[in-house]
Amino acid sequence: MLGPDARERYLRHILLKEIGAQGQQKLIAARVLVIGAGGVGGPVIQYLAAAGVGRLTIADDDRVALSNLQRQTIYRDADVGALKAERAAAFARALNPSISVVALPERIGAARAEALFREHDVVVEGVDTIEARQTLNAAGVAARTPLVSAALGRFEAQVSLFTPWAGQDLPCYRCLVPETPPREAVIACAEEGVVGPLVGVAGSIAALEAVKAIAGAGETLAGRLFIFDGLRLMARTVRLRRDPDCSVCGSIARSV
Ligand SMILES: [Zn+2]
Repeated sequence: MLGPDARERYLRHILLKEIGAQGQQKLIAARVLVIGAGGVGGPVIQYLAAAGVGRLTIADDDRVALSNLQRQTIYRDADVGALKAERAAAFARALNPSISVVALPERIGAARAEALFREHDVVVEGVDTIEARQTLNAAGVAARTPLVSAALGRFEAQVSLFTPWAGQDLPCYRCLVPETPPREAVIACAEEGVVGPLVGVAGSIAALEAVKAIAGAGETLAGRLFIFDGLRLMARTVRLRRDPDCSVCGSIARSV
């Protein structure tokens, strides 16, 4: 049961028939791991904390740099040099003191990822290399924890949700991106630049997918890739298919 304060705080969710009081209870009971508290992670943390996600774990081993402030709007000028995980956790606690927030100022490698994924209901990643994304994808498939993945560069953002165990044709990230991708696909935003508000679009879409996956609302991006072109202001969604020979999800049992 939601108390009077919670009813008021989450009223605009409760009013939605797709979420309602029941969906809000699920959000309050949910445990979400956010990996990467940068451009994408910021809005994800902001919206999930505001949504009342009961347990938010924020993993990032990086420190706030001056060049982050152009787009990572949960940080302030005075945060430069501080650990992102700790500043982001402080931001989330101040936004919503009723939730529990854990800061993990560390890089989540393969050894640690699977166990950590198992402790959470949904993982949202906004990391900046394909290699890191492959590691997290493998952990998500092994732990069967839905993984919201958001990538961006320059003026374009891409978001999807990976749950390959949940349907015959649903892919994982590895189905789409080979282990040795072409050089041009590997260029990180550190090298190529990114327009500030784009990270807000990508992060908001990723947060929306996490909320929908938890509350059971609507149709998620599982099996689809959302592509946003900020320069021409166009969005499209393309269907994704799994690779039956995928080294990560090819052999797992699926339930439809
Ligand atoms: Zn796969």
